[in-house]
Amino acid sequence: MKFKYCPICGGKLEEKFSYDEGGVPYCPKDDIMYFDTPTPCVIVAVVKDDKILLLKQSYIFKHSKVLVSGYVTNGEIVEDTVLREVKEETGIVVKEPKYLGSYYLSSREIIMLTFMVKYESGDIIKSDEVEWVDWSNLEDALCEMCEDEIGKSVVRKVLKNVGHKDKKAYRCDDGSCEL
Ligand SMILES: [Zn+2]
Repeated sequence: MKFKYCPICGGKLEEKFSYDEGGVPYCPKDDIMYFDTPTPCVIVAVVKDDKILLLKQSYIFKHSKVLVSGYVTNGEIVEDTVLREVKEETGIVVKEPKYLGSYYLSSREIIMLTFMVKYESGDIIKSDEVEWVDWSNLEDALCEMCEDEIGKSVVRKVLKNVGHKDKKAYRCDDGSCEL
């Protein structure tokens, strides 16, 4: 987000030169530069044997299931965001976050950091912000996530990671969506 006014004192920002960044909005009173940075968010694929944890949150996609996701809180390392969001949304305890790459969502200025984690313990306890959550077969996940392009590409990486060879996994049985 490009700042025009200082969020602390409300004063109009000036432009200050920063070596690599060029002109950056700057508050001379608070001596702070407001860099145009994206909001970091995590997308997490929780894997237990040949199952993956999928959620239904209609405000994200009406007809598709999604992976666990959430914003990185200030003061927290990203690996802890991963563990926290899974626990908060599903009640499950997970371990060994493995980074799978990032995606930039320009419409919302979000940088999505994607991870795969292993199930450790606990039963599903659905949070109020989630409509539905349950284990799905890894090979059915791509189909159930029809509209979620980023989620599907994360699942493809998960399939590769677990050494899934079955080509059927990359196609919908009823052909209702293109993968
Ligand atoms: Zn200020």
